[in-house]
Amino acid sequence: MKSFLIGFLFIICGAALANSLREPTFKIILSKSLEGEREVISCAFLNAQTRLTTFAGKFDWNHLVKKPFIKEARIFDSKVEFDKFATEFLGYPPNTKLPELFSAALEKEALFALSPKVYKSLYPDGQEPDSFEKLITHEMAHRLHVRILNGNEEEMGPIWFFEGFAIYAADQFADSLPNLSEAEIWTIVESPIRGSYKKYATVFRFFLNKTTLFDLISYAAQPNFVEWLHSLK
Ligand SMILES: [Zn+2]
Repeated sequence: MKSFLIGFLFIICGAALANSLREPTFKIILSKSLEGEREVISCAFLNAQTRLTTFAGKFDWNHLVKKPFIKEARIFDSKVEFDKFATEFLGYPPNTKLPELFSAALEKEALFALSPKVYKSLYPDGQEPDSFEKLITHEMAHRLHVRILNGNEEEMGPIWFFEGFAIYAADQFADSLPNLSEAEIWTIVESPIRGSYKKYATVFRFFLNKTTLFDLISYAAQPNFVEWLHSLK
């Protein structure tokens, strides 16, 4: 009886997908208080998959998004619970202080994230239409990046670059790009410390105006990456 009912639990997601009746193929585990939002959250996952597939298609990476990125998803209604799960799951020592804005991750084919509401309260400055959907897309984009590199995670380049790639692929902050001087851009490129994602969005586009995404990805793995960036006209 149960499986019969589940078979009819189709979900209609968003205006753009109004004609498609679909549901995620993986399990989504929610904090109890989030059960009322299950449909909205499921839709965000489906829309995120569509976003990333569309992005990949523009660069002929369709073959790299065929295999699902996510086998299981967990959404948390509190940052404390999320951090606790992440620490254990990622094998960090207990009481590891995770970054304040750490909101989602996709490791070992498990995606875990804050709920849309908690994400919003934690990072109000990062909110835009479809913020949560873009957050999920961002995490999948990191995995796409690894697939582009044939699994060589260490070739993803510096922080600003691999975060910039995921931000660009997820189309995050495209309508609120900060203006940065060239000097500020180079300071960010030279910095080994994790910085503002909005600024990364601007920095990434700055270089994308000078060369192709394919070249950026392949040079990011090289020791002379920054030198090479300086040589771009
Ligand atoms: Zn990221």
